[in-house]
Amino acid sequence: MRRALVVDDSASNRELLRTILEHAGWTVEEAGNGLAAVEMATARPPELMLLDIQMPGMDGYETLRALRGQAALAATPIYAITAYAMEGDVERGLAAGFTGYLTKPLTRRQLLAALS
Ligand SMILES: [Mg+2]
Repeated sequence: MRRALVVDDSASNRELLRTILEHAGWTVEEAGNGLAAVEMATARPPELMLLDIQMPGMDGYETLRALRGQAALAATPIYAITAYAMEGDVERGLAAGFTGYLTKPLTRRQLLAALS
């Protein structure tokens, strides 16, 4: 079964994303901060990651850099999730190495469309 790693400091956001992905057939693991996400993804690379930008400690960009620096995670689809998409943010996210950029609140339809 395909494994996704959902990274968000908000438990309710993780739960929402988990529910959508599980209904779409994914096995979902969760991390509540960037450091845990890097440790988990390094130990067992997932097929997909959803990564919150606004997190205390390592933010999404810092976490992405740590992930992309590893050969096993260089091509993994990693989507940025953010509540504050400003003009230029999407371009900045893609330039940083995100696969795509998704804005909260995320609907089931938006998420599945982005992943298809
Ligand atoms: Mg957050």
